[in-house]
Amino acid sequence: MNIAENISHLKSQIPPSVRLIAVSKTKPASDILEAYNTGQRCFGENRVQEILNKKDLLPDDIEWHLIGHLQTNKVKYIVPFISMIQSVDSYKLLAAISSEALKLERIIDCLLQIHIADEETKYGFTLPELISCLQSENIPELENIRICGVMGMATFTSDIYQLKQEFSYLRDCFNSIKASFFSSSTSFREISMGMSGDFETAIREGSTMVRIGSLIFGERNRTN
Ligand SMILES: *Cc1c(COP(=O)(O)O)cnc(C)c1O
Repeated sequence: MNIAENISHLKSQIPPSVRLIAVSKTKPASDILEAYNTGQRCFGENRVQEILNKKDLLPDDIEWHLIGHLQTNKVKYIVPFISMIQSVDSYKLLAAISSEALKLERIIDCLLQIHIADEETKYGFTLPELISCLQSENIPELENIRICGVMGMATFTSDIYQLKQEFSYLRDCFNSIKASFFSSSTSFREISMGMSGDFETAIREGSTMVRIGSLIFGERNRTN
């Protein structure tokens, strides 16, 4: 497994306007450093404890993205350094992030995770849940978060037609949420979608950020 080669090959397939998040979950700090040495700065992890363990072994200018489910009681551990929390799936979590960030005078970039897959196990808002949350809660009151867009995970399938439908649904969700609630926001512009098996389809459907693990670092156990 040559991490540097994998990254350079991937970069040749991703337009420069799409950001690459290298998903390093389950992989050791030494692998992350190898990617870092090619110039990669954005890394995605899905567990709080795992980021905490690795970050102290690695350079300070890494931008850490949390891409996995976050419990409100763990928010305080990542708020000091996290670049973006991509997996926000409740108002309660947003409020907790904002209140911890206020203590440190930080503003945390967040994405709203929307459920687009036909699998039960994946987290995220449904579109109606998200709309009712944005209608009923006072989001602008949360001054220490910045909502930068949406994130979604497609079904684990090789059916390109289904993937295309799920990604275009997420893009439609982005557009309608933007029009209804963030029309004057310049920050609301990200659609984080696309993983190792489906990033090409995601990019065709308008992804601005792909989250890629196994194509860079090699296969993991599928439960991670
Ligand atoms: C693991 C994970 C990825 C990357 O998966 P690969 O198939 O290894 O590229 C992307 N997004 C999320 C939310 C993940 O949990």
